[in-house]
Amino acid sequence: MSASSDTLRLISGVGRKGPACFVVETAGKRLMLDLGEGPPAGLLPDVERLGPIDALVLSHGHKDHVGGLALLAKLGNPPVYATEIVARGLPKGLPVRLLPTGGSGEVLGIEVTTGRNGHAPGGVWLHFAIGDGFLYTGDWSTESILYAYDPPTKTAAIALVDCSYADYDRPIGECWRALEPFAERGPLLLPVPANGRGPEIALEFLRYGRTDIYIDDAMSRVLRQLCTTDTASVRADVDDDLKALVVTAMPIDGARGIMLAASADGASGASKPLLEQWERAGEPAIVFTGYRAPDTPADRLIKSGRAEFLRWNVHPRLSDAVALAQDVRAKTVIPAFCDRSRLDALGQAFAPAQVTMDGPVKL
Ligand SMILES: [Zn+2]
Repeated sequence: MSASSDTLRLISGVGRKGPACFVVETAGKRLMLDLGEGPPAGLLPDVERLGPIDALVLSHGHKDHVGGLALLAKLGNPPVYATEIVARGLPKGLPVRLLPTGGSGEVLGIEVTTGRNGHAPGGVWLHFAIGDGFLYTGDWSTESILYAYDPPTKTAAIALVDCSYADYDRPIGECWRALEPFAERGPLLLPVPANGRGPEIALEFLRYGRTDIYIDDAMSRVLRQLCTTDTASVRADVDDDLKALVVTAMPIDGARGIMLAASADGASGASKPLLEQWERAGEPAIVFTGYRAPDTPADRLIKSGRAEFLRWNVHPRLSDAVALAQDVRAKTVIPAFCDRSRLDALGQAFAPAQVTMDGPVKL
């Protein structure tokens, strides 16, 4: 049963889009869940007055969940728990301990259950045997055609749930139908995260019949890993298409075909110089598909009309989030990574569960 001291602190990531960082206090231990940077770039959780923590647990390897690792020195350099795939991408020299990609493990003697999050290589949701159960979804999606998703099965009275899209509820099939006209022509540049929706969108274009697919080095590396070291995160039904994509995709060489390059907002990586080169040209078409932080090339090109924005779902629809909360019998839902202005709409959707964006929350 719940000890009165079990508490969840919402350090960053609830009430607005921003870096993920939460702290669970239980049985005299303090576990941090994720330690991200941005968006916007450079924004870090405020950990100045937190004092030492006993462990950091990472849900997946995206920057807004792991980009704040430089802060570990201020937190007593605790051990870092991550899946093997996520651990491989972390800075060398960290005191890493492995989490299962699916199944049971323990963190400082606390039972933790994980499952694949359908969102990123090595990404997991985390269920802790604290109080009447506590679920932290990290980022997740039930809809990915590439990344495998395992529904949580253990009950969780308290659920901290990625609601990045707030009350948006359109299926991923509609995302593809909006992109499909671009598959009939070309050339097209898609700035994408290499270790997220990039490989997934490339796969859709391949399945459509495009064989003129061009990718940057970061995408190429991730694709090869998905076929070799990262197969644990890949859906079983996608294996042959993924191998075909690795063989088909060529390095980007001029404005031709379907081109996919990191980063997603064009502020860094291979997409940055490509956007600078093509911003004032008539071709290629440019489509951004993810979160658009202010003052990024993505924001500028969409505002000027040079580029389009067509969302590609990599977070849950509202109906997915509501179904999850019901499945785990959540009594309290804390929606993460969306704006506080959506609180009332989410409160109605999750009822009769209570919805709050205010911590600390008793576990
Ligand atoms: Zn993510």
